[in-house]
Amino acid sequence: MTTMPDLHANSNSACCDAPEALQHTDTLRPSGSLRRASLHTLGCRLNQSETAILTDKLREDGYGIVPFGAPADLCIINTCTVTREADAKSRKMVRQFLRKNPSAYVAVIGCYAQMGAKTLAAIEGVDLIIGSQEKMNVLDYVKSGKNEHPLIVRDSILRDDFTLVFPDHSSAINHRPNLKIQDGCDFMCSFCVIPFARGRARSREMQNLREEAANLVAKGAKELVLTGVNVGCYAWQGKDIVDVVDTLQELDGLARIRISSIEPTTIPKELLTRMADPAHKLAPYLHIPLQSGADNTLEAMRRRYSRQDFLNFIHHVHDAVPGVGIGTDIMVGFPGESEADFEESYQLLQESPLFYAHVFKYSERDGTASARRSDPVPPAQINERSARLLRCSAMKTRMFQEHHLGKRMSVLFERAQDGYWGGYTDNYLRVLTTSNEDLENQIRSVRLTRLQGDLLYGELA
Ligand code: SF4
Repeated sequence: MTTMPDLHANSNSACCDAPEALQHTDTLRPSGSLRRASLHTLGCRLNQSETAILTDKLREDGYGIVPFGAPADLCIINTCTVTREADAKSRKMVRQFLRKNPSAYVAVIGCYAQMGAKTLAAIEGVDLIIGSQEKMNVLDYVKSGKNEHPLIVRDSILRDDFTLVFPDHSSAINHRPNLKIQDGCDFMCSFCVIPFARGRARSREMQNLREEAANLVAKGAKELVLTGVNVGCYAWQGKDIVDVVDTLQELDGLARIRISSIEPTTIPKELLTRMADPAHKLAPYLHIPLQSGADNTLEAMRRRYSRQDFLNFIHHVHDAVPGVGIGTDIMVGFPGESEADFEESYQLLQESPLFYAHVFKYSERDGTASARRSDPVPPAQINERSARLLRCSAMKTRMFQEHHLGKRMSVLFERAQDGYWGGYTDNYLRVLTTSNEDLENQIRSVRLTRLQGDLLYGELA
């Protein structure tokens, strides 16, 4: 996906969560002979979950993890290609690191490495470029030293279900770690490059994901966020996403299971039943990408539902799951999107039970069906539509916050900043509170008392 997903992100949306940069660093600087490594992640929660595993593998291998930009012997940059801006940002991070560490070993991996390998290979100082198929094996390639053939990019990505080799997760785990359960997508939406960058849909073996989940919980994780490109398509030996959450439900010590983002046509009703059941750990929260509220745009995007289907579904979710928080992604400026089409998206957000929208500006991606269209929307119009939708989203978030004032909610606190502890409710409201206690990684009952600006405050109950 997230600290709260970046509501103001602007990129083409894959179904994975919103962009967010994340670094894992050790508190102590490594000393003496300990090698130093730094990692940087661009893009979605799925990339973050993969970088987290690579970080722990490096630690297991004796590396000290230093912040991105600090002197390091090795750098791994896990890239994103969801938009042109993501490509440019990926290149920028590579150059930025090389400027400060010209003699370090630099490995560029992930989605942009898969799609833009030749461009990356032209950057002097890059030692290794690994696409989607082999990226989790990056350390094996690094160990083999400077590489004669730095491009490890397979044209076709295997469709096989998979396991992940994960080391004993470090004690410095994220407060709400991601758990990768799936990869790739078969849907081929006309704007989306992800099926090319990450391949077709495949699922992680149940036992393997359960083992990693148990390891994360043993290290203190109270909430797990299920990630993938199209998690609702999870299918492993007859098991589906409902079986995944039921399996994780059995883990002692785990308090919450959250689904990061899920396609509207892939949500079984049993998932809603679990969310509505107070005894089940599945959080009453859904992030369901809409993309457009206009039928002709949805059709041109090759989405698999109509405006009315989407509306019916979220009203059903709202009725079936008490207190549910529902968010979405909306794209503006898809080729041919008229003012009237945009108004349909705007009205849908305004009038529906959605409480926020990530707003994405259309970005043309080579090789996609929509890149062949010749009816682009002018950038000024795209910017204006984006700004309007963001204002609407902020208003919807405020209404949802106001609706909760006076209520008691359980909040999983993460960290203290500027004198306030911050955390999330199960339905994904961010809450701040003051306390002399150490609330880190604790779930506490909080009475929501006031709204100041766009921040929601509460008192420990
Ligand atoms: S092709 Fe469609 S469903 Fe698949 S990742 Fe892209 S936007 Fe999501």
